[in-house]
Amino acid sequence: MFVDGCFWHSCPEHATRPAANDTWWAEKLAKNMARDAATNEHLQQAGWRVVRIWEHEDPSEAANRILKEVTRSRAEH
Ligand SMILES: [Zn+2]
Repeated sequence: MFVDGCFWHSCPEHATRPAANDTWWAEKLAKNMARDAATNEHLQQAGWRVVRIWEHEDPSEAANRILKEVTRSRAEH
């Protein structure tokens, strides 16, 4: 399970980009997103379930999501 910072991982609700060095930041954040996607895929191929929680998510809702994911994975096995 990961907790992703809204800024660093470009959350759809709070992604902001500093005005200075716009291109540098765009590349930097795009690389972060690509790395997240690659990490997810890598873990999923290794049989892991990946749950990513946004920094802004309500903790009890996040806990519910994890619980659901665990319940689903138990049902499959
Ligand atoms: Zn956010």
